[in-house]
Amino acid sequence: MSEAAETKPRVKLLKYNAVAMWRYTFHNEKCGICRTHITQRCLDCVSAGNDVSECKLAWGRCGHCFHVHCIQKWLKTTHTCPMCSQVWEAERITGHNAADEDDSDDEM
Ligand SMILES: [Zn+2]
Ligand SMILES: [Zn+2]
Ligand SMILES: [Zn+2]
Repeated sequence: MSEAAETKPRVKLLKYNAVAMWRYTFHNEKCGICRTHITQRCLDCVSAGNDVSECKLAWGRCGHCFHVHCIQKWLKTTHTCPMCSQVWEAERITGHNAADEDDSDDEM
């Protein structure tokens, strides 16, 4: 019995059943930050001439999807999803060809 810890640290919600809840539902088909379709490269990659495979997609717990490059820039100033203003928590990073990425799913 210790009463020393009066100030509890803020506990973050741990991942719960992320795999089971995962679904390829596109809530938004365009990146909410650069307005480019998420199957395309972000504007930075277009101007830099990067291949589309270098421009990954970041999926948030809220279901919104952005280019990794876009959300990384966004998160430098704020930590909420640009689309729904929930606290941004990246759930998954995929390539543009999301169907190729089945590292942990046991069903197609
Ligand atoms: Zn973008
Ligand atoms: Zn990019
Ligand atoms: Zn969101």
